[in-house]
This record gives sequence, C-alpha cells and structure tokens, in this order.
Amino acid sequence: MVCVRLSAAGRRVCAMGTSTGKAERADRTPQSGRSSAVPPAASPSKPSLSPSRAADFMQCPLLYRFRVIDKLPEKPSAAATRGTVVHAVLERLFDAPAAERTAPRARSMVPGEWERLLKARPELTELFRTEDGAEEPERLEQWLADAERLVEQWFSLEDPTRLEPAERELYVETKLEGGLTLRGYIDRVDVAPSGEVRIVDYKTGKAPAPQYAAGALFQMKFYALVLWRLRGAVPRRLQLVYLGSGDVLTYDPDESDLLAVERKVRALWEAISQAMETGVFLPRRTKLCGWCDHQAHCPEFGGTPPPYPAAIVPAQSGRMGQV
Ligand code: SF4
Repeated sequence: MVCVRLSAAGRRVCAMGTSTGKAERADRTPQSGRSSAVPPAASPSKPSLSPSRAADFMQCPLLYRFRVIDKLPEKPSAAATRGTVVHAVLERLFDAPAAERTAPRARSMVPGEWERLLKARPELTELFRTEDGAEEPERLEQWLADAERLVEQWFSLEDPTRLEPAERELYVETKLEGGLTLRGYIDRVDVAPSGEVRIVDYKTGKAPAPQYAAGALFQMKFYALVLWRLRGAVPRRLQLVYLGSGDVLTYDPDESDLLAVERKVRALWEAISQAMETGVFLPRRTKLCGWCDHQAHCPEFGGTPPPYPAAIVPAQSGRMGQV
C-alpha cells in the first residue's frame, strides 16, 4: 500500500478511515449537489449498495435496517449540515474563473449556500432554535463561522486556482456481474493531461488515527472500483482532504486492491441479503452508538424495533417478496 500524508501542520499519518457513526454531511439534495438524482435504496428487486450503506451494515446491521428498510427518520445534525454547506462551497467555487477562486470569495459563499440549503430543507432552522422555538442567532453565527474556517482551511491544502476538475459531485453507478449495483457520489474527479485520474473526497472532520484505517479507504476504493468498471482504467490516486485537521491522505490503488474490494462488497451483499431474508439484523453495540438516533428502537438500549415489514418477510419458499 502506498500511503502518503501531506499536512498543513506537517504531521505524518499513514492510515485512513474512520466513522463517527454520524453522517459527514446531510444527504445530498438538488441544492447541495449537482445531481438531483436520488439513488434507489437497496431492495431485493434492485439490489444496490453505496459506501455509506455498506459502512452502516459493517458498523451495525440493525442500524442498516433502520435506515434502509424501516427508513426511520433521523434528526438533522449541525455537523452534517455544516458538511453539506462546506461541500457546496467547494464545489461551486469552481464555477468562478481560476484567478477568482480565493479564500475570501469562498468564505463569502458560506451564508448564501446555507440559505440555499435552508430553502430546500426549511426544517433545518430547528438546528438553531431552543426547544421552545426561540431563535438562537449566536449559535447560528458561530456555526457559520466554523463553516467559514473549514472552507479557509482548504486553501492550505489545495490550490483551486491551479485545479480544473473534470467532474464535481459526480454520481456513479455500475452493475457487477450477478446484478448488484454499486453507486455513490464522488466529490471531485481530476484528470491529468496524461489521462490519469484522481478521485478526491472532502471530509469536514479530522483525519483518523492509524488504528481506524478501514472506513474512508474502503469508501475511496469503492469509488475507484466503480470508476474502473465504468471507464476501464484504475484511478491513479485516491485523495482524502480532511478540513478539520488540515490533512491530506492519498492512496494509489492497483487492480488487486480493487478486486479485493469487489470481493468484500459481494460478501457484504450476501450478508445483507441473508439478513433481509431472515429478518435478522443483529445490533452491534460500540462507542458509535452514542451517535445513533435509534436507541429508542434498539434492544441494546431496552428498545424494540418496529415490526419487520411484511412485504419482505420471506415467503414459505424462502424467496423474498418485493419491498
Ligand atoms: S444504538 Fe443500536 S442500532 Fe444504533 S448503532 Fe448502536 S446497536 Fe446499532
């Protein structure tokens, strides 16, 4: 494995990937990303998997069920929403001519992107209200200032005046032999004059400690696998930009990496399919439970899951019905 770390702080970290258990950003909306397409959820009739849902199942099968099958609502989080706004700024800044992609301009875009998101999701105003509905302007101001700081941090890690992304917020989807569709959104794709491809993902959190290497690297290899299948060439570099800590982690994959990810994804889908057929999605209690919105339904915390949807309880033949 080639793992290079470049850091504004000069530290070296040679591991990637962790998860807070909470979304890095809120789900993409037409206002937060380029594509308005909402990818389909996994179902027996159209099996599909994204890196986020795969990570959910690996973290806790019951969490996967709550999100994908029961579709239980989750409270918006200030951190995930800030991630959405920051990603929108980093994406839209490239609409400006190269010389105008400056830090002050990017910072000035933050309030506008927040307003745009708010128009699409007015319920987010609740993030900055007290329980009895009173507005909390200081909290909003602080939150916007934090978003601006994250945006500014990016300029210590990359120089957008020297970048011309080939794609931004790219929705990718490919079907593996056997029918499983892999899908996801890639923040940025750069293509060098030589044709070599770099996949870039922004994280508003901090770079992970080395012992939490798997998560983000899995996500990036997943995207690389999809692009490889779509375009026939292995991306040259995977790059994670951690705005929270000022780190850039890179990884140069090869075919064997991506074949290994494909095997892993297939095994994961087997496990998900089995859980769907039996209705058994075991809870896995970890410290990430602290971020989970579903403790009230979780047996690990004295809760009871909702009835398993009858439409996908296996028939007597053992075959699944439609979701
Ligand atoms: S609270 Fe329950 S459902 Fe949520 S992650 Fe923990 S074990 Fe899974």
